[in-house]
Amino acid sequence: MKKVCFFVLVCCFFSCSQKKSEVSFDSSFLSGKLDSVVKHTDNFYEVFIYPAFEPVNQSPWFAFSVASETKKQLTIKLNYGKYKHRYVPKISTDKKHWKPINSTNLYIDSLGNATITIISTPQKMFIAAQEIESTTDTYAWIDEILKEKSIKRTVIGKTVLKKDIYALEHDNDTVKKSIVLIARQHPPEIPGGSIGFKAFYLFLISNDKLALAFRKKFNIYTIPLLNPDGVDAGNWRHNANGVDLNRDWIDFSQPETIAVKNFINNKITEGKSINFAIDFHTSYSGPYMLVLDSVKNSTKNKIIPKWIENIQKESDFIVEARPRSQELPYCYNYFINTFNCEAITYEEGDEIDRDLIKQRAQWYAKNLIKTLLNDKEI
Ligand SMILES: [Zn+2]
Repeated sequence: MKKVCFFVLVCCFFSCSQKKSEVSFDSSFLSGKLDSVVKHTDNFYEVFIYPAFEPVNQSPWFAFSVASETKKQLTIKLNYGKYKHRYVPKISTDKKHWKPINSTNLYIDSLGNATITIISTPQKMFIAAQEIESTTDTYAWIDEILKEKSIKRTVIGKTVLKKDIYALEHDNDTVKKSIVLIARQHPPEIPGGSIGFKAFYLFLISNDKLALAFRKKFNIYTIPLLNPDGVDAGNWRHNANGVDLNRDWIDFSQPETIAVKNFINNKITEGKSINFAIDFHTSYSGPYMLVLDSVKNSTKNKIIPKWIENIQKESDFIVEARPRSQELPYCYNYFINTFNCEAITYEEGDEIDRDLIKQRAQWYAKNLIKTLLNDKEI
């Protein structure tokens, strides 16, 4: 799909060049996504964005750059075919610093297509559904962590396209109890899957005294990027086989979910126990937690109600817990059903302020530590 996309774009670029058009579009970078471009006038372009696989939910991921030989105002229509607009476009010149497009420069029509207005210059302007974080970016973040912390990086398997799947392990030989964090099964879900996840994880491995105490009692197993193929291809949701990984935790038909299963099973064989698991995502209507529909009635473990109580006790954060069936093939249900532990899906919201996402994640992490350290039953 990526090659097709690139071919279309090259054709467009060449045809535009032949017409001496001064505007160029490019998505030939990791996580880039743009299927074709139509020039309507010198100042009005329409870009077409389609999912790599269907069926898929309404979550059009786009990521491309625009540049022009001279400074000019451009109107760009984002056409998702039968799908509706979801993400407020984010703008960057370096793919590191991003800001949402000004609301006065975004118009959404009744069919769900978005039109944006930008000032184009010779410097590439990157326009994406969310901040772009490709495998290169995540792996650089992992490298930084490994420089300073007593954390081990392990290759736990290969993706469909034979990329390494990494786990980060804070493992103590004498400690049995463990928690598991999993992130980015769904490529575009940057707010929870990357920003929230990283802030949460960084608190757990920080030098905060609670975190230090926690790591003496718990191992931390983390898979920071479970769908690297989907991330680099700019997929809306799926892995390279067109499978939604977060619906594969009963069938285990994909190498990515199998890798996690084998990794965790090896830990169990080594004598570890899984006591809590969190799977990080992002929703249009977040933030909230997905929890078992029976979580409040459970008599055995009550980590989640205590955690929520602790979160809300000394802060303005209000936790919305949305119950889901234990039968669904979601990641967190795999942990609940297999290890009889508690687990949640951690959902952030698409357009939540990024600093607030970090603050929430740190506070939730701190209070999960408090809850787990005080829980006598696990
Ligand atoms: Zn998701």
